[in-house]
Amino acid sequence: MERVLITGAAGFIGSHLCDRFVSRGFYVIGMDNLITGDMGNISHLLPLENFEFHHHDVTKFVHVQGTLDYILHFASPASPIDYLKIPIQTLKVSSLGIHNLLGLAKDKRARILIASTSEVYGDPLVHPQSEDYYGNVNTISPRGVYDEAKRFQESMTMAYHRFHGIETRIARIFNTYGPRMRLNDGRVIPAFMGQALRGEDLTVFGDGAQTRSFCYIDDQVEGLYRLLFSDYSNPVNIGNPEEITIREFAEEIIKLTGTEQGIVYRPLPQDDPMQRQPDIGRAREILQWEPEVDRAEGMRRTYEYFSRLSPEELRKKEH
Ligand code: NAD
Ligand code: UDP
Repeated sequence: MERVLITGAAGFIGSHLCDRFVSRGFYVIGMDNLITGDMGNISHLLPLENFEFHHHDVTKFVHVQGTLDYILHFASPASPIDYLKIPIQTLKVSSLGIHNLLGLAKDKRARILIASTSEVYGDPLVHPQSEDYYGNVNTISPRGVYDEAKRFQESMTMAYHRFHGIETRIARIFNTYGPRMRLNDGRVIPAFMGQALRGEDLTVFGDGAQTRSFCYIDDQVEGLYRLLFSDYSNPVNIGNPEEITIREFAEEIIKLTGTEQGIVYRPLPQDDPMQRQPDIGRAREILQWEPEVDRAEGMRRTYEYFSRLSPEELRKKEH
């Protein structure tokens, strides 16, 4: 049985990755310090024979007994309000944390895939963003703690690849959504869903003209899985190119949920990117991958998930 370590296992994307690898017959070691994660996302895996969980902060020395074939580094706060609340931990997990995991990969001769992000492009001056674009990041803004840490993480990973010859993969993930997100994590989809479910107005930041392109979690997991098993070590964008303004998106959610509330406008956070859309030409060519779930279908599934939660589960998702 091949063995895989997944960091950030109790988080949104990490828990879906655990599901994928467990169901494909791998032995999965999930690791998380639960700073933004939720054990409820992986509690169904705990009784299984091919899953174990380590409560551990990856910025501290990471030890795993036995062999390891693959490492997927997904630990990191990922929503703006999380990383603004815990800026130092955000910087550490993609610097000290990646150093520990690259060291582990070298020691175990494991292949490592890292979760990078569209935020490496910052507030992009090129549209759509292809992997050749170097980005436009304000290193000293509050948001810089995430963007710059992820950029460092990519450099460190390439250095280990070139200098130590370890096998590395870099996924530049664009806005991804689906079941298990935390309703209060501040990201736009859970924010709007939570507001609709509680009968509150939807909060659009700025005038809502900024754009994003949303990828459903199942498509994301498939793209990441294919990237891990490809032989390509340069960064690959994984996201859905279907772009929408945040204002139009709020209107879609109002229709989908049937809420009688409207939209209220709030100030735009500093350095909030004005536009974002992945160029996925490289993923199409190298991974023969493209998203299959369109926004209408993905949002329907996500809304169904949140509306099925009991009041107590909903409260937990609001922590
Ligand atoms: P999430 O907050 O749901 O999951 C992150 C997990 O990492 C949490 O369970 C948290 O407790 C854990 N974690 C954080 N610091 C840790 C540490 N020092 N040691 C151990 N565990 C730690 O976020 P997510 O949306 O699932 O994001 C997962 C990864 O994907 C992140 O690296 C994020 O930067 C990246 N990413 C996500 C998106 C997206 O749209 N969801 C987009 C781009 C990149
Ligand atoms: N946003 C919004 N209302 C909210 C939360 C977010 O209008 O309640 C906006 C936010 O300013 C940004 C977009 O939605 O322009 C996407 O925000 P998110 O935090 O989901 O992701 P990111 O900015 O990291 O792409």
